[in-house]
Amino acid sequence: MRLLKELDRKDPVEVGRELHDFASELFPICRSITGNGIRQTLTRIRQRIPMEILEVPTGTRVFDWTIPKEWNIRDAYIKDATGNRLVDFKQCNLHVLNYSVPLQATMALKQLKPHLHTLPEYPDWIPYRTSYYKEDWGFCLSHNQMLALRDSDYEVCIDSTLTDGHLTYGECYLPGSLTDEVLISTHVCHPSLANDNLSGLAVATALAELLTEHDLRYSYRFLFIPGTIGAITWLARNRETVERVRHGLVLTGIGDAGGLHYKKSRRGNAEIDQAVAHVLRHHCEGSAILEFSPYGYDERQYCSPGFNLPVGCLMRSVWGTFPEYHTSADNLDFIKPHQLADSLRVCASVIDVLENNLRYQNLNPFCEPQLGKRNLYRSRGGDAIAMETNARLWVLNLSDGEHSLLDIAERSGLPFSTISQAAEVLREAGLLSLVAEDVPEKAQPNSNFDAGMSLAQSSRGPRRST
Ligand SMILES: [Zn+2]
Repeated sequence: MRLLKELDRKDPVEVGRELHDFASELFPICRSITGNGIRQTLTRIRQRIPMEILEVPTGTRVFDWTIPKEWNIRDAYIKDATGNRLVDFKQCNLHVLNYSVPLQATMALKQLKPHLHTLPEYPDWIPYRTSYYKEDWGFCLSHNQMLALRDSDYEVCIDSTLTDGHLTYGECYLPGSLTDEVLISTHVCHPSLANDNLSGLAVATALAELLTEHDLRYSYRFLFIPGTIGAITWLARNRETVERVRHGLVLTGIGDAGGLHYKKSRRGNAEIDQAVAHVLRHHCEGSAILEFSPYGYDERQYCSPGFNLPVGCLMRSVWGTFPEYHTSADNLDFIKPHQLADSLRVCASVIDVLENNLRYQNLNPFCEPQLGKRNLYRSRGGDAIAMETNARLWVLNLSDGEHSLLDIAERSGLPFSTISQAAEVLREAGLLSLVAEDVPEKAQPNSNFDAGMSLAQSSRGPRRST
């Protein structure tokens, strides 16, 4: 399977536009860590990919946490004495402190002010604030809006409910030849914020859509979950599934104009860490690799010491380092169709590496096989060895049953796709065979994998990859 090749058959402008359109469709919905906003969002995703929507009741213990009450909101406003809505949830859902308890009162500005949140340094922007685990109420508004409030009485209404209900999340499972899994996780709990995280949600959905059209080596599990409590809930309910996760990515904030950043898993040297670093180095100028830290998005839970899963986090500008983060300026203009499409390409490239990162055994290891007589040596004159030939020599030299194709790509400095294509040509020419452990458990029709008896099989017993 070559996912990137498939994606590149499509017009990149069109791909970017479709991703942006999906983010735009979901933008107005008021989401939170529970409630109807997240249900509506998951229902729209389910129209595009096969997905189960799961509900976990309030009060359920999940490790050290408890599923909170479910929050829903219909309306919220601050009205002046003449009935004008000065702050209106219906204009922008960031205006209400997310998870605010219901309230209906008339109060003086002095009483109201401790419950108002603004950003004095960006006086036209509305901040995004939450209070999930401490019952509170509040409004978020632009600093200029607050300065315009006169010393008077105001009618304050938050038409919300905070009652026993459910936490809702979505799970899309795409079976492959292996039961080993690739986990793609994205948070879907923020209201009208585009980069954080409609960008991750749109790209993850498109990636799953793309994968449904292919025969897969790995099985894939996409999680669309509320941040923190969603990941904790899923981990608590899936202790057995977790053992099958071989690689994972958290996708967040991947639509802004900044360069790509990859935060490594806690392990730091997992195959996913190598794969993403390789793809970024070869395909993305201005990208950077970050070491693991225990602060960030849901990789914190997947990489907690009890699980220590090989899950990293792919983003563009790093959360908290740009002023638009968690404000109304993280809007649909802040995410770019081109960047969304580019992020999807990077994800497809990473999956291509994971799917094709196999190990081979050179069947002719005593001196170089004569490539010329097999029509595999294409010198283009001069002293330079063509990259194609160079790649074949690297693959032959390092295919000792131990080095993976990604190891060979890294050592040679050549792109993975070039190394992988070289391996395919050499295998077709009978010079390589796949090592036994990398042969899929059950062959799929149209599979590229050589399931035949190999030298490695005859000399070594099967070993599960870790
Ligand atoms: Zn956030």
